[in-house]
Amino acid sequence: MAQFRFRALEEVLTRKPVEVKRQENLVSDFYGMNVFDRPKMKKYLSKEAYKSVIDAVDNGTPIDRKMADQVAQGMKSWALENGATHITHWFHPLTDGTAEKHDAFVVHGENGGVVESLSGTMLSQQEPDASSFPSGGIRQTFEARGYTAWDPSSPAFIVDNTLTIPTIFISYTGEALDYKTPLLRAIAAVDKAATEVCQMFDKNVSKVNANLGWEQEYFLVDEALFMARPDLMLTGRTLMGHSASKDQQLDDHYFSSIPTRVFRFMEDLENEAFKLGIPVKTRHNEVAPNQFELAPIYEELNLANDHNQMIMDLMKKIARRHNFAVLFHEKPFAGINGSGKHNNWSLSTDTGVNLFSPGKNPKSNLQFLTFVINTLKALYVNQDMLRASILTAPNTHRLGANEAPPAIISAFLGTEISKMLDLMEVAVVDRKMTPDEKTALKLNIGRIPEIILDNTDRNRTSPFAFTGNRFEFRAVGSSANCASAMIALNTAVADQLVKFKIEVDALVEGGVKKDEAIFQVLKKLIIESKPIRFDGNGYSEEWRIEAARRGLTNITSVPTALEALHDKRVIEMYGKAGVLTPREIEGRIEVELEKYTKKIQIESRVLGDLAINHIVPTAVQYQSMLLENVKNLKIVFSDEEYKSLAEGRIELIREIGGHVSSIKAKVKEMIEARKVANIIESEKEKTYAYEKSVRPYLDDIRYHIDKLELIVDNELWPLPKYRELLFVK
Ligand code: ADP
Ligand code: MG
Repeated sequence: MAQFRFRALEEVLTRKPVEVKRQENLVSDFYGMNVFDRPKMKKYLSKEAYKSVIDAVDNGTPIDRKMADQVAQGMKSWALENGATHITHWFHPLTDGTAEKHDAFVVHGENGGVVESLSGTMLSQQEPDASSFPSGGIRQTFEARGYTAWDPSSPAFIVDNTLTIPTIFISYTGEALDYKTPLLRAIAAVDKAATEVCQMFDKNVSKVNANLGWEQEYFLVDEALFMARPDLMLTGRTLMGHSASKDQQLDDHYFSSIPTRVFRFMEDLENEAFKLGIPVKTRHNEVAPNQFELAPIYEELNLANDHNQMIMDLMKKIARRHNFAVLFHEKPFAGINGSGKHNNWSLSTDTGVNLFSPGKNPKSNLQFLTFVINTLKALYVNQDMLRASILTAPNTHRLGANEAPPAIISAFLGTEISKMLDLMEVAVVDRKMTPDEKTALKLNIGRIPEIILDNTDRNRTSPFAFTGNRFEFRAVGSSANCASAMIALNTAVADQLVKFKIEVDALVEGGVKKDEAIFQVLKKLIIESKPIRFDGNGYSEEWRIEAARRGLTNITSVPTALEALHDKRVIEMYGKAGVLTPREIEGRIEVELEKYTKKIQIESRVLGDLAINHIVPTAVQYQSMLLENVKNLKIVFSDEEYKSLAEGRIELIREIGGHVSSIKAKVKEMIEARKVANIIESEKEKTYAYEKSVRPYLDDIRYHIDKLELIVDNELWPLPKYRELLFVK
């Protein structure tokens, strides 16, 4: 029975190392070679066409049909010279991954032949028959068409002989069916709101960019072992498996030297990423065995998010070359750390100022504080909708499990900034300030050091930490599309900045001096958002109690978290910012509920099958061996001796019998619970039913299986064990 497991191990042990061709050139020589970037556009496009693309990227100006034709011509020439045969529109549907449908360049030519062609229409818009993507009811069958439309702000690239065009994905009726459309809208909203606030300080600012630097955590598992674990293959996580006697207790994996085979994978991956213009920078071993991290240099948010999706895809492909499977699941293994994807986020101006970096003088520091304080207020007011953007079935295993931030949203600021806010909070700004008071306050504001040393990442327990020149949203899951969190965050901040400006303007109109008006509103915001600030240990029990006292919410249930999006204020905010319509929000809630239900349903089915087809027969086989042994003992030994010899075995036989009976009974109950849940009409009620009455069986059944793993003869056990999955490198 166990040959499967041992065959997998044998394959690992007899495998020859994979040869990697070393890249002989400097990275700077081949960086971006597969991207239709600005230098290539300059070379392949007419002046006019080049200008229209740059205008579209920088100012969002639409590209007309004539220009699109010209761009398509140039792009085609470049693609053909680089071996491309096909084109695809590439988009981010509301699933866990991206989508593409390839079309060859060839069209009928003269005399029965074919020619390569790419029209402007083909480049700009396509209508993939993509009716199977989740829409949450937005697309009824009569309007099932979905359209993809070119996003010129993210450059085209070539992967596997296919010219890939980043696109948005919308319905026939114009509603967003993807992550990119609302992300672009949220980026525009925060640009507009932040630019207006910046102009209070510097009239030269005409654009504010949102930036993202993601840190992707992942596990590598040998592919042969992975293939021998149906649960990993089908659900992305192990649904059973007793912990290894040693895993991460000694912290000997974190930042240790990278194992050779893993290093070869990373090198191969990085070279491919560089060719695609993805500026990958940092690699290291993470805390759990066989867990690693990859981070690029941060980029403009939309591009950074495309790059994250591209690299997740690339990682899966390249891992296979090295006989690894890559795991992006937030919690592939119980009992050791799971994986996240910190989203380092900042705003910067077209005048070269990072709005989250303290400046050189009181004025620029006041601008810096304005953005920090408004972000805090946005976080405080929108804690529930932000949580709804990051809480998913797999991420619930991680959040609040003492390895990742809790499901309570709070912000870490560090001593320097906290001190500054405390000072502003008590400053007398509510009446006309005396010149001395004003000077003193400005002097203090001017004293924030440019580089805030104590802030650089000291507190790893905070879900939203200020790290010197950016905020780090740490609650995002490793398998997530960063857009989900970024749409929520940028919309929330945009909304708050608009409110801030209105309040300041109103005071100024009432005769208050501009700087005093800013002080007054900031003071009010500091007081209002105080409960969201927390610099202590986010993993501690005291924080849970303190957070509850402060009225902060702590929600770990996906359907409950999603309720926050039904809030009238949230719906209005998304509408006003032009990011999501009420119908789009409802659609997204439906999609998320359905995703949750289906994931639990799949896990429950896989576990049920494995329990009944793999585990129970194995346990019964071992039990029969013991029974046979007991029978033989009786024949060979005297009654007296038999009694003492058989005692331990009989106990074991009973123990196995007990676990087997429990597994069988619980699997049956779980199936019944599924049946009850499956016929519930309302998607929301069904999700609650899956959460409350199906999900608990996953842990219940696993408990008995993991006990059996410790009892049953190792030779018989059918599935690779944790000590194998986590330590084969
Ligand atoms: P750590 O693990 O210490 O948090 P890493 O070096 O792993 O740091 O990742 C930090 C990420 O933050 C990188 O992607 C980096 O480019 C990004 N980053 C740095 N400065 C900014 C900024 N101003 N805005 C957005 N991201 C930034
Ligand atoms: Mg970090």
